[in-house]
Amino acid sequence: MSKNSSRTAGRHFLQIPGPTPLPDRILRAMDTPIIDHRGPEFINLAKRVLDGIRTIFKTTNPVIIYTATGTGAWEAALVNTLSAGDRVLMVETGQFATLWKNMAVKLGLKPEFIPTDWRIGADPAVIEAKLKEDKGHEIKAVCVLHNETATGSLSPIAEIRQAIDRAGHPALFLVDTISSLASTDYRHDEWGVDVTVGGAQKGLMLPPGMSFNALSDKAIAASRKSNLPKSFWSWEDMLNMNKIGLFPYTPATNMLHGLAAAIDMLHEEGLDNVFARHARFAEATRRAVRAWGLEILCRDPKYYSPTVTAVVLPDGHDADQLRDLALEHFDISYGMSFGKLAGRYFRIGHLGDTNDLTILGALAGTEMALTLAGVPIKKGGVQAAMDYIVSAHAGSQRAAAE
Ligand code: PLP
Repeated sequence: MSKNSSRTAGRHFLQIPGPTPLPDRILRAMDTPIIDHRGPEFINLAKRVLDGIRTIFKTTNPVIIYTATGTGAWEAALVNTLSAGDRVLMVETGQFATLWKNMAVKLGLKPEFIPTDWRIGADPAVIEAKLKEDKGHEIKAVCVLHNETATGSLSPIAEIRQAIDRAGHPALFLVDTISSLASTDYRHDEWGVDVTVGGAQKGLMLPPGMSFNALSDKAIAASRKSNLPKSFWSWEDMLNMNKIGLFPYTPATNMLHGLAAAIDMLHEEGLDNVFARHARFAEATRRAVRAWGLEILCRDPKYYSPTVTAVVLPDGHDADQLRDLALEHFDISYGMSFGKLAGRYFRIGHLGDTNDLTILGALAGTEMALTLAGVPIKKGGVQAAMDYIVSAHAGSQRAAAE
């Protein structure tokens, strides 16, 4: 349809699991003249966001803000806490966990990579068993993705903390929340995480290019002993300068204006409401997938992701062709598939500044695209999603009346 047209009407449906669509309010907050990044106005802004971001990570400790994508914050978490040759325990939940593991190897660390079939999250019992085997406490860190964006699985961080404690192991606990922060419950302090890695472009509804390390006292102590080379990523200068509302280099001022707006918006909605909204979209999407008669990649409901659902196509159907066709005809983008499962599935992102009708529109586009692509599906996925969304609203209406 759009082949013969140089213009596509209406808004694009960006259903990738981040970057997510930017709210107009955040765009407007960033659309402002540059200020002196050493002047009083900047110091007020910096103090506001450095304080505010802690409420999103649920920590009273410092949160470092980097002008870098999430990959930079991954590197920062490793190089600040660890030393050459350190053993680290990581879990192969999917492509992003694999990339973090590859980075650890390049940095001179020795990761032990717990394998999975990419269809579940990290199992606390397996981590506990591995740590119990390590009688000499050679493993210096356990590194886990809260949400594996590539496959749509959420790992139970509080349970993994308990598993580390049950093993009586002193390893640091490093968690990537790039595609879960500000979309589902996360508690840096309460869950005893030492470094939480975050990114701007998903639940925080900002453009790509900003990322975070939330710290613990134990992580800061480890950073004083760590011998991996670091300069830009070093926490030390950042912590010192941040104390007076400054950065050691020219910060991304306009992104910080956007971040201030994002923090305000999340609190105005209420974090618990934000989490409930994401849970509703995820369940509605899964019901649609099941009604179509298709398979959800994550095979154990315990690990279902609140932000992205990966949908497996029947044998003989190419998920990349489906994505191309959906883009061409319905102006909708999905997340691609990776690694050993490339071409077998596509991902529906349901996170960020989105609402019930956007999700239903996306699911309608998906049902039509699947039909157009000749994928054998049953009708009624959108209806199943609508029924669920109505029942969820009826439940909250009843609760408000009580
Ligand atoms: N970790 C997770 C869970 C991600 O989803 C991503 C990117 O989507 C990354 C790390 C890498 O972040 P970036 O692409 O911002 O460097």
